[in-house]
Amino acid sequence: MTKIFKVDKIEPEFQSISYAAEVLKKGGTVAFPTETVYGLGANALDEDAVNRIFAAKGRPSDNPLIVHIWNINQINELVSEIPDIFFKLAEKFWPGPLTLVMKKSSWIPELVTAGLDTVGIRMPNHPAALLLLKYADIPVAAPSANISGSPSPTRVEHVINDLNNKVDVIIDGGDCAVGLESTVLDITGNEPVILRPGGVTPEQIEKTLGRVVVDKYVYSKLETQSTKPRSPGVKYKHYSPRAKVIVVDGPLDKLIAEINKQAQNHIKQNKRVGIMATEQTKDYYVYGEILSAGDREKPETIAANFFRLLRFFDEKGMDVILTEGIDRSGIGIAIMNRMIRAAGYNVINV
Ligand code: AMP
Ligand code: MG
Repeated sequence: MTKIFKVDKIEPEFQSISYAAEVLKKGGTVAFPTETVYGLGANALDEDAVNRIFAAKGRPSDNPLIVHIWNINQINELVSEIPDIFFKLAEKFWPGPLTLVMKKSSWIPELVTAGLDTVGIRMPNHPAALLLLKYADIPVAAPSANISGSPSPTRVEHVINDLNNKVDVIIDGGDCAVGLESTVLDITGNEPVILRPGGVTPEQIEKTLGRVVVDKYVYSKLETQSTKPRSPGVKYKHYSPRAKVIVVDGPLDKLIAEINKQAQNHIKQNKRVGIMATEQTKDYYVYGEILSAGDREKPETIAANFFRLLRFFDEKGMDVILTEGIDRSGIGIAIMNRMIRAAGYNVINV
């Protein structure tokens, strides 16, 4: 049986959080809210505990987990080398949606890092998450709290749908503000490399460090399944709803025309069609179920709704979801990365 605790978003209740912290210390699993998406946590230093995460999610074990901390001093036991730029980045972006990849210490089980000699570490910016990590006072390994492959959970209902009775505790801390996962930044080499775009933008990192490289896998398919990616999560079809997702990318007028055409064609074939539109485009569509994900001028609104709408269209029994490409600047690169993967690289360029 899973225990579900609803907590205050700003001042989470001591009793619920300390109960959950005890569960973590004893090797159990706790789903908790963060500012990015809900995470499913377990003691990062306890291999049996970490195994329970993989079992609950059905996650392949060659995909590493992010280790969550609440206090910067915790990194001393987790990494074997601290690059100079670490402190600059942590000061600027922690707590926040930035995961820093560094050389791992020998304390971290191989299962956490999927056999890599590096570990991804982050300090989440959510009161319930920080308090949980503080009370447990152990590093907590946590991937997103969803069934492996499906859209990431940004609301507690998503976690309950996917993981009820598969985990020990679910903490309900409301909706996730960012709605997309953290940016994963490798700082082990000469150049800082973004392995996965996310809540912190390349522009923000560049402003802080003066430089940043975006890994080529951010958009491309791996050439062969045996290629070992630097960020293993990029290997899988990911973030996908049951419905087939088609991304239409290009200038707005052409994009709208193509989505209308696609919608009409699929409806003729008796398919149920959902259109993930934007405030600027929603009135131009005529077929299917039309929902706005947000404002193109404020892409963070689209980020916050993206996974939720994929799940919503699935609940409505849609067969096809048509989505609009957006500008890649700012958080747009992270939105497009998730959209293209959710579509299994099914992109129509107009
Ligand atoms: P999730 O929390 O489900 O979004 O998954 C965590 C993701 O972080 C993984 O799929 C990887 O893409 C990335 N990651 C975690 N640890 C590492 C690492 N040591 N090196 C590279 N990427 C990592
Ligand atoms: Mg995930």
